[in-house]
Amino acid sequence: FTGTVAVIGLGHMGGPMAANLAAAGVDVVGFDLVDSAVSVARAAGIRIAASGEAAVTQADVVITMLPAGRHVLAAYEGGLLAAARPGTLFIDCSTIAVDDARAAAALAVAAGHRALDAPVSGGVVGAEKGTLAFMVGGEAADVAQAMPLLEIMGGRIVHCGASGLGQAAKVCNNMILGVSMLAVSEAFVLGESLGLDHQALFDVAANASGQCWALTTNCPVPGPVPASPANRDYVPGFAGALMAKDLGLAVDAIESAGVHAEAGRLAAAVFARFAEGEGAHRDFSAIIDDIRMRGAG
Ligand code: NAD
Repeated sequence: FTGTVAVIGLGHMGGPMAANLAAAGVDVVGFDLVDSAVSVARAAGIRIAASGEAAVTQADVVITMLPAGRHVLAAYEGGLLAAARPGTLFIDCSTIAVDDARAAAALAVAAGHRALDAPVSGGVVGAEKGTLAFMVGGEAADVAQAMPLLEIMGGRIVHCGASGLGQAAKVCNNMILGVSMLAVSEAFVLGESLGLDHQALFDVAANASGQCWALTTNCPVPGPVPASPANRDYVPGFAGALMAKDLGLAVDAIESAGVHAEAGRLAAAVFARFAEGEGAHRDFSAIIDDIRMRGAG
């Protein structure tokens, strides 16, 4: 990739993503509102602009990695789209609502640009190692132009369809994950109260129809899967606050699409409550503690 990439939002995810682009020889100009994020990025070889607008005027591709949909829409409308050169490719990697992603892309196109939604999974470790999974929505030609950059920052890249469908794939996947972690955790707690050993339940379910990632990779009890967060006091991993956020976006999509999805709504409510307390900063598999605590109370 020979052009210049502007990265707007140099936080936990955007910072290391930008650093990997710079380390691969890409000319990266960045901006963040927070001084500490700027200092870390500068040390990683990223040129720092005085504002988001100043960054995008120099860029062929603009990557945004911001907290939520309102930040993306505000940044696009507040000056990024107007400042960019005509035909700039905007890639939003933030996790935002499907409807917000479609609105952001429509704004970019109306301003004479091109746009992709490209949310990620893999967390801070994936961002640092350049092994993120990208779920991409938008035009095939734009995905092709983005691909060399996405391949620097990520491992698996799936073009999911038109604008917004990258976000759609992410919320659908994370709804499976939230619901399945709840089911696995409730099953372990039920097993405990029936006198069933964790390892015995694991040995049965991991090789039977209960098999899923929440059980066999992120197992919510210590022991059966030594690398799961349960073995290190639920240090994330995937923090409860992020699961609550993503399930909230799933509910937004459920309501917007008019779909009957009781389990998804229930998981969203359970993890929202979990994330109100210390669960926000624990791995989401610590929901099992919440289930035990409520049973005893
Ligand atoms: P973060 O809060 O660490 O970083 C966001 C950065 O955006 C902050 O540094 C903030 O100052 C900056 N920012 C906000 N408004 C800005 C603006 N107008 N101009 C420039 N900078 C601005 O958050 P994060 O953990 O890096 O997450 C970013 C996105 O990635 C979120 O949508 C999140 O849901 C998603 N995500 C996070 C993870 C994770 O494990 N952290 C995993 C997958 C996806």
